[in-house]
Amino acid sequence: MPITVGIPRALLYHDFGELWHSFFSHLAVPVIVSEETNKRLLDRGTTLAVDESCLPLKLYLGHAESLLGRCDRLFVPRIVQHHQGFHFCAKFAGLPDIVRNTFHLPESKLISPVIQTGARSEILKAAAAAARSAGKTPWSGWRSYRSAYTAWAQARDREVPSGNAFTPRIAVIGHSYLLKDRFLCGDIFAVLKANSVTPVTDDEVPRRRLYQEAGHFAPDIYWQMAAKLAGSARYFAHHPAIAGLILVSSFGCGLDSLSLEYIEQQILGSCGKPYIVLNLDEHTGRTGIITRVEAFWDLVKWRRKLESNLPAYGLSQRPHPLYDGELEY
Ligand code: SF4
Repeated sequence: MPITVGIPRALLYHDFGELWHSFFSHLAVPVIVSEETNKRLLDRGTTLAVDESCLPLKLYLGHAESLLGRCDRLFVPRIVQHHQGFHFCAKFAGLPDIVRNTFHLPESKLISPVIQTGARSEILKAAAAAARSAGKTPWSGWRSYRSAYTAWAQARDREVPSGNAFTPRIAVIGHSYLLKDRFLCGDIFAVLKANSVTPVTDDEVPRRRLYQEAGHFAPDIYWQMAAKLAGSARYFAHHPAIAGLILVSSFGCGLDSLSLEYIEQQILGSCGKPYIVLNLDEHTGRTGIITRVEAFWDLVKWRRKLESNLPAYGLSQRPHPLYDGELEY
């Protein structure tokens, strides 16, 4: 009888979920993914996690709990590093331990391949270990990973299309597990679309380019998550199609508290484009988000109008960035 694997729809699922899904489907192992985030999962995660946890980790525990009893094993990888030179936040290295201790699970309940350096040989070893834990042969693990990875890697490299004055684009920057979670960030995208603005995220920046951009801040940027934020902020700050930037961070993320300050100082303060920082926590209401994004879009429109009228005043320079910076409400 084949085992069923449960994957929480949280944290790195939003980056690697399709790859994991495809890996297990090549292995012929049935997968259950937890439902989309909702208030109940968030409340459960908040109850289960220690108070100091960041919002995404709280959510992860809510998702993990919803799968217990519905699957034979939980897939909770331990990832320390994926791109050379950058490290994941410690939560990802400790995730299997956090899950096991929170729910008092035996080690055998988890499939936890270890990625220490992100080297190809190591990833193949991890794929073999995951296959073994799912009752398959190491060889089928290697083969499944190769097939899954090829399709996944080809599908994800895209480029932001160049825009023009009539197709304003706003870059939304943040961890994938915030931006891709509709419960947390769906309203940001909905408000922009309702105003005929095209939101773009780092999904539309080729990975290589993202890390090249982040390389400008080495060795200051050490964490992979911060590198992605800095790389996309630098890329979008200089992209002519981007009219403004929205940075999203979550309460309790020590890494964001440092890296966003750094990004504001090193990139956004001097790029001449309006930007806003939105901090989310478990109490953030929809209305607050909608109001802030609408106000930000009004600001961007005002700037665009002012800039297009400069020649009429005999001016050719950009206006003084009156409201550049974090908007306080
Ligand atoms: S990077 Fe921040 S938000 Fe993400 S898991 Fe680590 S502490 Fe949490």
